[in-house]
Amino acid sequence: MAVRGGPADPPDGRMVRLEKVTKRFGDLLAVRGIDLTVNRGEFLTLLGPSGCGKTTTLGMIAGFEVPDSGSVFVGGRDVTYEPPYRRPVNTVFQNYALFPHMTVFENVAFGLRMRRLPGDEIRRRVLGMLERVGLAGLDRRYPRQLSGGQQQRVALARALVNEPAVLLLDEPLGALDLKLRKQMQGELKRLQRDLGTTFIYVTHDQDEALTMSDRIAVMNHGCIEQVGTAEEIYERPVSRFVADFVGEINLLQAPVRGWDGGRLVIEVLGRRLAVPGQRVPVDAGTGSTVLVGLRPERLRAAQPGDQDAAAARVQDVTFAGAFVRLQVVAGGTPLQVTTPLGTPLASAAPGTEVFLAFDEGDVVVLRDDDDDGPSGEQGGPDDPGGRDAGA
Ligand code: ATP
Repeated sequence: MAVRGGPADPPDGRMVRLEKVTKRFGDLLAVRGIDLTVNRGEFLTLLGPSGCGKTTTLGMIAGFEVPDSGSVFVGGRDVTYEPPYRRPVNTVFQNYALFPHMTVFENVAFGLRMRRLPGDEIRRRVLGMLERVGLAGLDRRYPRQLSGGQQQRVALARALVNEPAVLLLDEPLGALDLKLRKQMQGELKRLQRDLGTTFIYVTHDQDEALTMSDRIAVMNHGCIEQVGTAEEIYERPVSRFVADFVGEINLLQAPVRGWDGGRLVIEVLGRRLAVPGQRVPVDAGTGSTVLVGLRPERLRAAQPGDQDAAAARVQDVTFAGAFVRLQVVAGGTPLQVTTPLGTPLASAAPGTEVFLAFDEGDVVVLRDDDDDGPSGEQGGPDDPGGRDAGA
C-alpha cells in the first residue's frame, strides 16, 4: 500500500485535498466550490441523495472529470489536470466491470501485467490478494461462475493489488442483497484497516456510511453540508438537511427567549433550555424562533413529579422489532418517539396520555436550509455555497 515516505506519502498526512472545486455540466452546477481533506489511512464516505454530486466529486479525484475551477491534490501533488493512469488511485464501481473472458487470476493480474512486472511477482501478489479478500482457490474460475459478492471481491482485489495510495469506491455494494451487503461492509472495513489504504467511499445509504466510515462528508446540491465522525453527524447535525437525511428526527420551531451569558435561551415542548453559544449555528434574536432537532429515541417516559415533563397524547403505536414506535402530539406538536420493548412507554395504548422527558443536551439547534436547494443556473465558480469542509 502507500508506503510511508514513498512518492504518494504527503508529509502533512493529508492524502487527498480538494480546494474550491467546481464542476458544471452545461447549465447545471454539479459541484459547487467544495473544500475537503482526506487523511492518510482514513475511510471517508461521501454521503448524500441521488444527484447531489458524489460521483462527480469522486470522478475529479480519479481523473475521469476535470474541474472547471479549483484544485485536486493527491499525495501532496497537484493532479487536477493529470489523466487517471498517472494518479496513485484506483476505482471500484458498482457494476464490477470485470473482463468476462478472463479468469479471476487474469482479471486481478491485469494491472500488474500492464506494468510488465515479473511473472513470479505477479503470481505472488495476485494469489496473496485473492486470499485477503476471501477468494483463495477460485483463481481459475471465470466471472460468470461466481456469485455477485464474489465478483465484487474480484473487483476489489483487482484494484487493491496495484497498491494504490487511495482507493475510490462508488456504491460498490449497491448490487448485492441486504444480507450480503452487511457482511461485505464488515469485510471491507476490516480490509481497509489491515491494509491502511485511504478509502473514499460513495453511498446514499446512511446505515452503510455510519457503520463503515472514520468520517462522513454529507453532500447536498453540490455542496458539502457537514464533515464529521458518524457520532458527530448523528448527535450534532448542523443543518435541517443533515439531521433529516441521517436517521430520524423530530424537527421543531423553538421560540427564542434571549441570550444569557453566552447561552441561547429557548423553549422546547414547554421547557426552558439554555444552549451554549458555540452550538448555535444561526443568528437568533429574542422574539424569533430557531429550528431544533430531537431524536425519537431521546424522548422517554418522565419520572412522576418531573416539573419539566411534557404531556402528550398517543396517536398510534407500531411494533418495529426490537423497539416500538409511537406517534404522539404534545401541545399541538406531532412527535415521533421510539422506545425499546418492555419500557412503560412501549405499552401505552392509543388515546392515552403520557408524560415525556428529555435531556437538555439532546436538543440540537439547526441551520434551517432551504431544502429545495439552488437551481442549476444559480451560483458559479465563485459561489460561496461550498462551505469549508476541511478536516
Ligand atoms: P447518484 O447517487 O444517483 O449516483 P450522485 O450524487 O453521484 O448521484 P452525480 O452523478 O455526481 O450525483 O451527478 C450530479 C449531477 O450532475 C446530477 O444532476 C447529474 O444528472 C449531473 N451529471 C452527472 N454527470 C453528468 C454528465 N456527464 N453530463 C451532464 N450532467 C451530468
